[in-house]
Amino acid sequence: MAKETARKRGYKKRYPQDRMLAETKRLLRQLGLQARKGLGQHFLVDEGVLERIVDAAELGPTDVVLEIGPGLGVLTRELAGKVGWVVAVELDTRLALVLKKELASFNNVAIVNQDILKTSPASLLEGLPPDFPGIGDGRLGYKVVANLPYYITSAVLRHFLEARFKPKVMVVMVQKEVAEAIVAQPGDMSLLAISIQFYGRPYIISYVPASSFYPAPEVDSAILKIGLYPQPPVSVADRESFFGLVRAGFSARRKQLVGSLANGLGLPKAEVLPLLERAGIISRRRAETLTLEEWARLWRVFAQVEERPW
Ligand code: SAM
Repeated sequence: MAKETARKRGYKKRYPQDRMLAETKRLLRQLGLQARKGLGQHFLVDEGVLERIVDAAELGPTDVVLEIGPGLGVLTRELAGKVGWVVAVELDTRLALVLKKELASFNNVAIVNQDILKTSPASLLEGLPPDFPGIGDGRLGYKVVANLPYYITSAVLRHFLEARFKPKVMVVMVQKEVAEAIVAQPGDMSLLAISIQFYGRPYIISYVPASSFYPAPEVDSAILKIGLYPQPPVSVADRESFFGLVRAGFSARRKQLVGSLANGLGLPKAEVLPLLERAGIISRRRAETLTLEEWARLWRVFAQVEERPW
């Protein structure tokens, strides 16, 4: 009855998503700013999604969180209310200035106006208070939580996974297709899947429609969680050369492994064939069917044979 009256009077039920959308538009107008699509600026306007990101990160008061691209600070505020310390790195100087002012009342947030790809994680955590738990005894770990700018997704993931000081866990919003490629199983593997699964176990927390952002991107998204391993699950002595071999294997995706490796490494097939045999891998298989363990076995055979630049 009440619903009917409201509808007749022309009122629209306001959902939290409407509220966040209206607030985001109001803030941008007030600041005289427009979203820069070139910087991947699609602001989150869905409270449910915000909650799912924060829940997935399993945050507590002794956590240190590194956020990439705080934008207008919706996620930053949530994080600051739950953890001990937040370092938020924003490339857009206009937004970084606004955030410094808006979040000044939080004494556990540092806004850094830099390009995340040009900043080492270790240097970002140097500003932590010296009495922060774990700092003195080297136990300090950190989490990455972010709604990523999609134009640099793979580069950001590599930046953290290959860093000397790696996070314990990453909870990041990425394009749906990228998330699916990362969690792929043998049969659908890619260079991207291997390079993430070498460092941690990725899984999709949930899918997120384009309408959860303003302005809405052209693609749907997914919340991806990667729990990092203390050590890679396969043993390879030289990571650079291991990934060189994997890259060569994926250099001609339609080809059988013998052909793609020969192509990628610039070797005759006759030289590649016995090495595949020695690793116990059928040469007719395609790169996307190999497990991480099989790539490692193959690399060990190749590495034994000769010093080659893969
Ligand atoms: N966290 C906000 C939210 O959820 O509404 C904004 C997310 S938006 C998808 C991505 C943010 O990353 C933007 O604020 C953008 O300016 C910032 N950004 C883009 N490239 C960056 C870079 N190289 N380093 C740091 N921040 C970057």
